[in-house]
Amino acid sequence: MQDRFNRNINYLRISVTDRCNLRCKYCMPEGGISLLKHENILSLEEIAEFVKVAVNKGIKKVRITGGEPLVRRNIVHLIEMLSKIDGIEDLSLTTNAILLEEFAEPMAKVGLNRVNISLDTINAIKFKEITRGGDINKVFKGIEAAKNAGLLPIKINCVVNKSSNEIDAQEVKSFCEDNDLKIQFIHQMNIETGEFSIVEGGTGGNCKVCNKLRLSSDGFLRPCLFNDVSFNIRDLGFENAIENALEAKPECGTKSSINKFNFIGG
Ligand code: SAM
Ligand code: SF4
Repeated sequence: MQDRFNRNINYLRISVTDRCNLRCKYCMPEGGISLLKHENILSLEEIAEFVKVAVNKGIKKVRITGGEPLVRRNIVHLIEMLSKIDGIEDLSLTTNAILLEEFAEPMAKVGLNRVNISLDTINAIKFKEITRGGDINKVFKGIEAAKNAGLLPIKINCVVNKSSNEIDAQEVKSFCEDNDLKIQFIHQMNIETGEFSIVEGGTGGNCKVCNKLRLSSDGFLRPCLFNDVSFNIRDLGFENAIENALEAKPECGTKSSINKFNFIGG
């Protein structure tokens, strides 16, 4: 799918839940968020149907995200349904890895290709602080399980405050080198004020080459993280919503008062 600025839109990121088992300081308020109503959340079948239509229109890469995607009930079944859709060349998932030890193998078995794992420090105490209570040992076990299940290449998403030279970022980098993991540094962003920058080691944040559409767990298709425009796929119909989103994709992001990382998934 070609947009108005000649970008080839072939990547769909799907947030399957707004819930999370962590409360990272830069992503969620300590007390959590006001959660979406159950009836507004897309069913797994609706998601799979939407993806079929999107793939027919030219989507080739699909990433599952959240909130935390592994807390969504029957997530393995969703992966299974998606992996059966002809035309998806890359099916991946972004996770905090807290539950990955349990899910890596079953997800690989039904067709997940690879995972991105979020890790900002390898220091257990700092990890607990940043995530407000997370146990880093579960993440390490999750990484091991992903390796054993062949969910490769494993990419580590490391959020940095100002620079990738920060000590925590450098320690995560060494950990990645020692463990055969790829690293991407993401600068801490603020969607509301429009503070965004490119992902070091990845392609995110660069409007000129942005190839993404994003689907939220309550069925809104968004052409840009840093823009308030969204299209209700249930009201408009799947194909129509995709065409609208393609047409509305801005040349460059600005800011958004409705999008949130925990909601739309980064
Ligand atoms: N829960 C999963 C996880 O943490 O990997 C998936 C959803 S999370 C919202 C997706 C990515 O967004 C994570 O890598 C996270 O670090 C990143 N993220 C969240 N808030 C951010 C912010 N304010 N600035 C930059 N990246 C952010
Ligand atoms: Fe949860 Fe991921 Fe946000 Fe952390 S970054 S609070 S793990 S959704």
